[in-house]
Amino acid sequence: MKDIDSLVRPNVRLLKPYSCARDEYSGKEGIFLDANENPFGTLNRYPDPYQNELKSAVSNLKSIPSGNIFLGNGSDEIIDLVFRIFCNPGTDKALTFTPTYGMYQVAADSNDVELIKIPLTKDFLLKPSDYLPFAKDENLKLTLICSPNNPSGNKFDRAAISDIIKNSPGIVLLDEAYIDFSDEPSFTGELDQYPNLIVMQTFSKAWGMASVRVGMAFASGAIISYFNKMKPPYNISTINQITVLERLSNIPGFTDEVRRILAERERLSGELKKVPFIVNVFRSDANFILVKTIDAGKIYRSLAGHGIITRNRSSLVENCIRITVGSESENNRLLEALKKIEI
Ligand SMILES: *Cc1c(COP(=O)(O)O)cnc(C)c1O
Repeated sequence: MKDIDSLVRPNVRLLKPYSCARDEYSGKEGIFLDANENPFGTLNRYPDPYQNELKSAVSNLKSIPSGNIFLGNGSDEIIDLVFRIFCNPGTDKALTFTPTYGMYQVAADSNDVELIKIPLTKDFLLKPSDYLPFAKDENLKLTLICSPNNPSGNKFDRAAISDIIKNSPGIVLLDEAYIDFSDEPSFTGELDQYPNLIVMQTFSKAWGMASVRVGMAFASGAIISYFNKMKPPYNISTINQITVLERLSNIPGFTDEVRRILAERERLSGELKKVPFIVNVFRSDANFILVKTIDAGKIYRSLAGHGIITRNRSSLVENCIRITVGSESENNRLLEALKKIEI
């Protein structure tokens, strides 16, 4: 792998970031006449552009220095920034392993970057040997791996992920949106070994804050400084920073919710296996379960008719439906509805 600077798009390397008022003076006390704000009200001030207080809470939580953390307006902003920092439109390529998260394709297309898709095995596992021919391509700037994977739900073999990071000629973005539901430790513990690795997590899933829109990226200081250069100055609102900070002050609440979701995942998997028109219940390391049915379209519509909304993933995996693990009572309603469906 080349050094990080040489992987960055030349225009981004030279970019002089917008210097906002709060970059020049970061103290909290004083009379602020620098940013054309309204002096009245409670939300009248621009937010902290680097979210220092929130980052130090995330730093404590994850045992990662603040200088190795970037916070985005959801993971979606982080994915888009990674494309824009490393991939020259029209010439560079990205690669992922399918079926996987649809945002990678959208981010690639909107940045005019070709996305190479390597199919996972029929058990949705990574085959690192399939990657090697593509790793020879100088224009392959970005490899996206989602583990635990959406929509299949399973985690990938750790050694297979390491193998791909080692062989990648560019950046590897490892999307760990569902890591809190997995028994596998995060790859954040291995950032020191892999200068080309970006680990991404989110507050949208296990932390229960999808509406707040805060995603996390963990990487070398060099990569984080490019993120900071490229991001819009005030990418996370004060309200959202405060909301996450409050949530982080109640870790036992979080742990308890995750424990309940995991218990329900196991119960639901067992019950779904008994449904006659479900032919396969895939192993999940996430908070959803992919099931293969005899007629996904019909089952999806019947469930919707009972007021239960699932995700028909047939376009990605034939006759498969993805079911989020809900609360105990929501899951009971789902199971009752499944009993009423006649195929
Ligand atoms: C839900 C999800 C995310 C989270 O996206 P946010 O923008 O942070 O809400 C990221 N990656 C995958 C694979 C997901 O399924």
